[in-house]
Amino acid sequence: MKIKKLSNSNKLWLYKSIFYRNTLFESDDNNLDNIVKALNIKKRKDRIDFVYDTACDLIDEYMKDKNVCDFKDGKCFVQRRNGSTSCDGCCGPIKCKHVTGKGCSTKNISCKLFYCPSARRKAKVLGVRNIDLLKVLSIRQRVICLINVTSTREQILKDLYSYSFIYAILRIFIRDCIK
Ligand code: SF4
Ligand code: SF4
Repeated sequence: MKIKKLSNSNKLWLYKSIFYRNTLFESDDNNLDNIVKALNIKKRKDRIDFVYDTACDLIDEYMKDKNVCDFKDGKCFVQRRNGSTSCDGCCGPIKCKHVTGKGCSTKNISCKLFYCPSARRKAKVLGVRNIDLLKVLSIRQRVICLINVTSTREQILKDLYSYSFIYAILRIFIRDCIK
């Protein structure tokens, strides 16, 4: 296998292509560790799974101590401030079937990236552009990561595996209609 040293996160679209199938990536920069791991996974589905799960973990780790939504008695600070009768923050009013008394029962990257304007005023939250690892995905796949609220991890991964954006969008649309 050929060895390729990475010094930044540019040209990842090229490095995951067929031309680099027999290339082992390395880097001296610890910040690129996850990108190097992703590029060294040569099976497309496995690479997408790794990027998705690792990005979700990075978001969780970043938000862990921030308590941005500040839930009390099942209501976030916006619901308490507005005297809302709804519970469960963003998940309650849309009646998402994955909400449980202990939070979300799945791992949804779109929901992990979503914060309302009031929450965004309280703390800096992560967006797709702040997570370098997501550059391993295509622009089409990054859009799918943003618009898939209320889907399960497995449904989003299937959308990400798809080569057709229209097919993925149709799947999301149909799911939204029948929920
Ligand atoms: S993002 Fe805003 S509306 Fe949603 S749960 Fe957090 S504080 Fe509440
Ligand atoms: S999938 Fe999203 S909307 Fe549904 S419960 Fe989980 S976080 Fe809330």
